[in-house]
Amino acid sequence: MSTAEAFTPSQIAQNFVESIDKGKYDRQITAGLKKFLNKSVDEDMTGFYSDDELDALVEIQGTDRDIESRMPVKITRHYFEQAKNSVAMQQLIKASPDETFDLAGSADPGNQMTYAPVEGLIHKYELGLAYVASTCSAHCRFCYREELIARKDIERADGTVAPKGLAQIDEVCSYILEHNRLVDANGGRHPETDREKLREILMSGGDPMVLSNKKIAEWWASLSEAGIESIRIGTKELAFFPDRFDDAFFEMLDKFHELYPETKLRFVVHFNHPDEFLKKDADGNYLSQPGGGLQWLDNTKRAVERLASRNWVNIDNQSPIIRGINNDPDMLRIMQRELKRNRVENHYFFAGRDIVGHRAFNVPIEEAWRILNESQMGLSGVEIHARLSITHYKGKTEIVAVTNDPIPGVPASENGFVVFKLHRGVGNAETRGRVAICGRNPKAIWFNDYEDRVIMDEAGLFTKAIY
Ligand code: SF4
Repeated sequence: MSTAEAFTPSQIAQNFVESIDKGKYDRQITAGLKKFLNKSVDEDMTGFYSDDELDALVEIQGTDRDIESRMPVKITRHYFEQAKNSVAMQQLIKASPDETFDLAGSADPGNQMTYAPVEGLIHKYELGLAYVASTCSAHCRFCYREELIARKDIERADGTVAPKGLAQIDEVCSYILEHNRLVDANGGRHPETDREKLREILMSGGDPMVLSNKKIAEWWASLSEAGIESIRIGTKELAFFPDRFDDAFFEMLDKFHELYPETKLRFVVHFNHPDEFLKKDADGNYLSQPGGGLQWLDNTKRAVERLASRNWVNIDNQSPIIRGINNDPDMLRIMQRELKRNRVENHYFFAGRDIVGHRAFNVPIEEAWRILNESQMGLSGVEIHARLSITHYKGKTEIVAVTNDPIPGVPASENGFVVFKLHRGVGNAETRGRVAICGRNPKAIWFNDYEDRVIMDEAGLFTKAIY
């Protein structure tokens, strides 16, 4: 597609960006295993990995099971302090040889490069996802973007091989302008792709909050001027470094809103476990808040309150269900309740994706459904908005139900069945709501594990082996 109308930010946007300081944040990051191996980490961190754990990691260094080639190690001081008293958080952040025991998985989950009209922009649905940063303040071991963060070579549609590049503001905005111009001129649909108007951009990576305030301001003003109505910011910074949400950041945020009041911001945050934001006593119990609820870490609470106090900002949480970290209904119940109480919506939980090494992290699909379903027992209607989603190559798919009972007389359903529902087709909206039903396979961790027991498939999830 040609990008006929090159994007140029207005003078207002330029003045706005000029007025913003870059801002400096000392996250006290420890990057890489080396510092743990040569004991040059801060003294209180030396025991974070046991000698046996380090020996096991050294043994596979430089081999095809090398841990940091799969996913670099990184941790902030804030996360470390919390993780000292949380096995779940340690699991999230500590490298383990198990990660590379089985390296099966997709080099480019979701075939994202197929949907990249310009480098770093994935255009699916009515939404564009822009890779604006290639790192986060710390790194989750189960990261869905390990290929981006570890700078792995990916094969493109044209056969060339290169690491995924980051989105550039002018290229992305020129693409949006041209796409939307063609959609308007063609009565609401793009003449070649049949897609609708691009209304939302998800800034992702990596974590956009590792960028300076100035860079974030430039992205927001440019996207707004290119016609984007809603900007999502996918971030785990509330867990990794909540002090990032400081006065300078909120000043920039408010200035942006004054200039672009119709562009709404939606922070899609990423808490995996209540240990990441709740205070605990010496015995590891959460502390009650006088008057109701539980006590949050002060800086996390402050950041959430400041975001939530702006009625043009939404906050939604989404999290995968990961083995050894949050495959625990009681913990997820606490998390959903506390998030909703504090104006963070429970958006999605994910059944694990087919990233390289996913067998080390994913819980089986039916088990993930059971965990979420059980976690929602005892929650109120407004607290149970989260759905369990799995990203099929055809689009985002909900795991709606898992039964114990069969459908009488229907082969493959003898042990019960699983209902999948397509939420959004990657190309267009028309396939929304279509369903597929399969006989149960309690060990299934990906769609191919259901191939031999498909009962009905109007969603086309199993018609071709494209997952
Ligand atoms: S916050 Fe997201 S992108 Fe960053 S390391 Fe964790 S899973 Fe990966």
